[in-house]
Amino acid sequence: NVLSNPRSTADYQAMDAAHHWHPFTDTADLAAKGARVITSAQGVWLTDSEGARIMDGMSGLWCVNVGYGREEIVEAVTRQLRQLPYYNTFFQCTHPAAAEFSEALAQVAPPHMNRVFFTNSGSESNDTVFRMARVYWDCMGQPSKKIFIGRHNGYHGSTAAAASLGGMSGMHAQSGLPFPGFAHIDQPYWYGEGRDTGLSPEEFGLARARQLEAKIDELGEDNVAAFIAEPIQGAGGVIIPPESYWPEIARICRERNILLVADEVICGFGRTGSWWGSETYGVTPDLMPIAKGMTSGYQPMGGVLISDRVAGPVMEKAGEFYHGYTYSGHPAAAAAGLASLRILQEEKLVERVRDVLAPKLATLWGGLADHPMVGETRTRGFLGAIELAKNPATGERFGEEVGAGARCRDLCVANGLVMRAVGDTMILCPPFVITEDEMDDMAARARKTLDDLA
Ligand code: PLP
Repeated sequence: NVLSNPRSTADYQAMDAAHHWHPFTDTADLAAKGARVITSAQGVWLTDSEGARIMDGMSGLWCVNVGYGREEIVEAVTRQLRQLPYYNTFFQCTHPAAAEFSEALAQVAPPHMNRVFFTNSGSESNDTVFRMARVYWDCMGQPSKKIFIGRHNGYHGSTAAAASLGGMSGMHAQSGLPFPGFAHIDQPYWYGEGRDTGLSPEEFGLARARQLEAKIDELGEDNVAAFIAEPIQGAGGVIIPPESYWPEIARICRERNILLVADEVICGFGRTGSWWGSETYGVTPDLMPIAKGMTSGYQPMGGVLISDRVAGPVMEKAGEFYHGYTYSGHPAAAAAGLASLRILQEEKLVERVRDVLAPKLATLWGGLADHPMVGETRTRGFLGAIELAKNPATGERFGEEVGAGARCRDLCVANGLVMRAVGDTMILCPPFVITEDEMDDMAARARKTLDDLA
């Protein structure tokens, strides 16, 4: 038994190599290297099976916003498991945890969103969005509105509809996606795609947003159900849009009668310095898929926050929505979500992101921008990115074959900090409970890593 009889690192690596097929991993390559075995964590620090302490600059996978070792959440989940480990929310039943969490979510959601549909992950949340938006247009007497527009390099999950909504070329190539009925426009990636256009960042933001209007014209307004995007693209490489982008997207959706879906799976629950990334950019979406920070990763859970605009007609006209998951509103997950939400509120962590962490990260990452390996650094809220460059003056990249990002990621861990590499972009998303001293330490580890890379 793993917990009562710990074994050696080599034992865990061997069983893992023999039997575990890892997500988004070249499993044979990993088996040859041996997976790092993470055994415990506290605050912002991970401990591995060899006793090394590593600062978690990614909050797990963008989720452990309130930090590791939060006894309040552990106790809430334990109490819930003792009292009622499971009951469904189908068929005329609810339970106190789901009822209380749905009310708490409605209180922190934008004022026009008063309802949540519970799922178990961000991917399921986006599959739910796909079905819900189509039912909405049926109820509105416009059943031809079926097509979804997403963005190249966007990420909305790994289930079939979520992967079709997303624009990850590798995922699409492997499984014949996207399905018919999905279209994509370009991302507002200034550093990667905008600098050579002769446009200013704001002009570029507008031009990329206006691709949506052109795509709607091409497909026919009567055929388009919704546009989906992350307020800040996370897995694509922390792509922070120019300020002009989101208001223009919102205008187009409003004028062309297209539902606006803001995928808040990463940006939600305070990451950008307000409760929602869409709030940071001043837009009011019709649907918001959520997950990750919803429970700070202490239990798997996702959901969709639903505007009155969508909920009203569907409830009135469709009656039953033939959709749901056995674990929708799972009691232990809802208890974890409530406890995590209380921590965000009681410790004023969203305000802390806005007033303390975001400005300090902007300063620290700004201080790395003149490093000879760096083409650009950027931050928004408590998200950051470092663009590695072979020639910072021209922005020339290293090229895939060099694998600078992957090498940087490995050096970074050796320096005691987890950052993720997306190509040659190093990305960062630390827990909200990191201290200011720890942030200085984090920046020192990042600089040392860049020095080592040079
Ligand atoms: N949406 C966004 C914006 C994400 O970043 C992710 C995961 O990283 C997902 C959806 C999918 O969430 P999950 O992995 O919980 O299915």
